[in-house]
Amino acid sequence: MAVWNPWKGCHKKSEGCENCYIHRANARKGINTDIIYKTEDIHKPIEKDKKGNYKIKSGQTVFLCFNSDFLIEEADEWRKEVWEIIRMREDLNFFFITKRIERFTIGLPDDFAYGFDNVAVCITIENQLMADERIPIFRELPIKHKLITIQPMLEKIDISDYLDDTIECVVVGGESGKDVRPLDYEWVLDIRRQCIERNVSFEFRQVGSTFIKDGSTYKIQKQYLCSQARKANISYKKA
Ligand code: SF4
Repeated sequence: MAVWNPWKGCHKKSEGCENCYIHRANARKGINTDIIYKTEDIHKPIEKDKKGNYKIKSGQTVFLCFNSDFLIEEADEWRKEVWEIIRMREDLNFFFITKRIERFTIGLPDDFAYGFDNVAVCITIENQLMADERIPIFRELPIKHKLITIQPMLEKIDISDYLDDTIECVVVGGESGKDVRPLDYEWVLDIRRQCIERNVSFEFRQVGSTFIKDGSTYKIQKQYLCSQARKANISYKKA
């Protein structure tokens, strides 16, 4: 696994961004996250060592733009170069998460008509409004590997009409940090039911710092967010 941040910085886009961990972490360091800038890692996947071998070894998954949004407006010019690098490293699998799927086609390579095999795109939604806005756009795009993440999940959401075999997985989780919005386990189980009924893989990734189960509210420490979700043992693998 490798991380590639060709640019950093992001603007809050919708309700799910309210407690964005990037904004919070940068604020503690006095960094203004709303300034978007290209990093010196822009060519990272094609950097070579002294022997002439790629530093990022073949077969790895590269997590792209985990300090920004790959589709953010300020990066439109820089993104063309990044697509070229993605094409050059067809031996790597690239993965990014976005809240701006409506901008996906801006700067796309001409030969992307049917998607690249080595690119997986995950859209993030937090409520019914964003589900109804983003998923229909996502479904129409020529992307070979599509995933949906509902993190932080802020309410009960019905995505059943959008689930079919083009969606590889739905991931659910809560919000982490102090005084964050709660995740209700009933909402999680409801998404799981929808996924099973449509035979789409489902993963309960983390419980969130404020977790409601059977009407009781629990405060969960950061180090247990994922392990508590795993303990629930409700993830589902497509048959
Ligand atoms: S889009 Fe993602 S990275 Fe950008 S502000 Fe929202 S949560 Fe943070």
